[in-house]
Amino acid sequence: MDTVRTIAAMRLVRTQLAEPVGFVPTMGSLHEGHLSLIRRALVDNASVAVSIFVNPTQFGPGEDLMRYPRDIPRDLAMLANEGADAVFVPDAAEMYPTNFTTWVTVEKPSERLEGAVRPGHFRGVATICAKLFNIIRPARVYFGQKDAQQVLVIKRLATDLNLDLDIVTLPTVRAPDGLALSSRNAYLGVEERQAATVLSRALRLAETRWLAGERRADVLRREMAELIQTEPMAQIDYISFADGETLTELETASAPALISLAVYIGQNRLIDNLVLPQAPY
Ligand code: AMP
Repeated sequence: MDTVRTIAAMRLVRTQLAEPVGFVPTMGSLHEGHLSLIRRALVDNASVAVSIFVNPTQFGPGEDLMRYPRDIPRDLAMLANEGADAVFVPDAAEMYPTNFTTWVTVEKPSERLEGAVRPGHFRGVATICAKLFNIIRPARVYFGQKDAQQVLVIKRLATDLNLDLDIVTLPTVRAPDGLALSSRNAYLGVEERQAATVLSRALRLAETRWLAGERRADVLRREMAELIQTEPMAQIDYISFADGETLTELETASAPALISLAVYIGQNRLIDNLVLPQAPY
């Protein structure tokens, strides 16, 4: 496994990778969710490149950039064990030199949900992905459904800028109690970790009610909110019942709909989602 820190070195390693190349961009602190993407990329492609970069431009002021969990030696050991071929681990100065001024803004899918609460977040995501795609030049890129809106943004980016790659989306990997795996789960104390199951419980409730025939989105949102409010550590940021393509909020919950939510558990902001009618459990 080649581990490289500069764009020049990554380009050189890239010339030696067998085609087609699959690519998995990550912010590191790897868990089974990331590994599911890497394993699928290894099946689909002759070689696999992974990036580890905590991208500063997708964090807003006051967000968790400084304390975001980082453990590069552990990540590299996991990637070597999986059989990744190349790992790109640039630092911020390598990706954003001082005269950097070009930004990629994907307008519509960036505007709602996470984009409304975290201004600039998807500009940072789209910009770093465009850069990484240009450096790695993959045939396929792999993203998790865990970040459903990110997938919509990247698909739009690829279509609008005629990027010559396939985008593969894989299901959210969960802990046995339903909590979606996330690097940010490392922030949770024992009681918070227990309380955090309220996100997936609320999604499951909405899914159950929907399968039983409830189609009024406001009723489903309210029932989710009531469940979450039974958890004293939880503070709702948003609950959305939206069209899975446009992200416009629905009155009638017809499939395919994206139910998504962001909830603070103590100081920690967690997100989760599910697409109806696909059951993630
Ligand atoms: P991150 O390191 O959090 O930026 O995530 C890197 C990639 O892993 C993104 O495409 C995420 O959507 C994906 N990912 C994160 N958590 C999960 C999960 N629990 N299941 C599946 N994919 C995930």
